Amino acid sequence: MNKFDLLINHNTIVTQYEILAEYHKKHLQDKGVKLPRLMHGNNYSKSALVLIYLSYGYPDTDIVTKEELTKYIEHFYGRVNDVQQARHLGAQNGWYILAGGRHDINVEAQDIPSGSYKLYSLEEPYPNFNLDRRSTSYGIDEFENLKKHYNYRCATCGSEEGKPNYHWPNTITVLQAGHMDPNKPLEKGNIIPQCSKCNRPDRNWWIYDSKGRVISIANPIVINRCSDQVQKAIYKILKRKFEK
Ligand SMILES: [Zn+2]
Repeated sequence: MNKFDLLINHNTIVTQYEILAEYHKKHLQDKGVKLPRLMHGNNYSKSALVLIYLSYGYPDTDIVTKEELTKYIEHFYGRVNDVQQARHLGAQNGWYILAGGRHDINVEAQDIPSGSYKLYSLEEPYPNFNLDRRSTSYGIDEFENLKKHYNYRCATCGSEEGKPNYHWPNTITVLQAGHMDPNKPLEKGNIIPQCSKCNRPDRNWWIYDSKGRVISIANPIVINRCSDQVQKAIYKILKRKFEK
């Protein structure tokens, strides 16, 4: 049976919703991500259906087109207009859904065609989701002031907000609140504006100064990328320091 036929079955829907609820409770609830209700009146809620469809088979999720999602929703609702739920669940509600064609924060979204979606993780929220909630001392207005201070440019690469990214000209620059030191909270004194390319969570290897320059290492794993020569030098330094 194909995925569509499986996912119009009530038991499969309920089972998949329970799987979602479990991940949500364990990883996402305390980050402010909201789980949509399964039912909306006598019908399944559209948001729940979209999440169920996108998360089916997790962690091996498929890329799903908007047409496919629309067809799925129409099975329960009859003719519907543009299904926007996948986009809203990601950007507004914090579910880590990659959207193709949007300038997604995650580099893997570049492999997703425009108008298609892929559920990326049920164990972490969408990057930078709920910045306000996570850093009570830092609000949207303060971030606006900070961006102004940097002439609306990424502190690290200089790309200007709303203009093509310096290194990826097909991507329009969106400035985000980046950590100077990823091991410290995202709060005043530890924030620089960075474009989504410079602020990728998987680049949390470095500590930056206020000019966006790398000044130290935030994750020792990067030492594995150094040459033997540099590794030996590091080893010598550490040996001297700790073998006393
Ligand atoms: Zn940048």
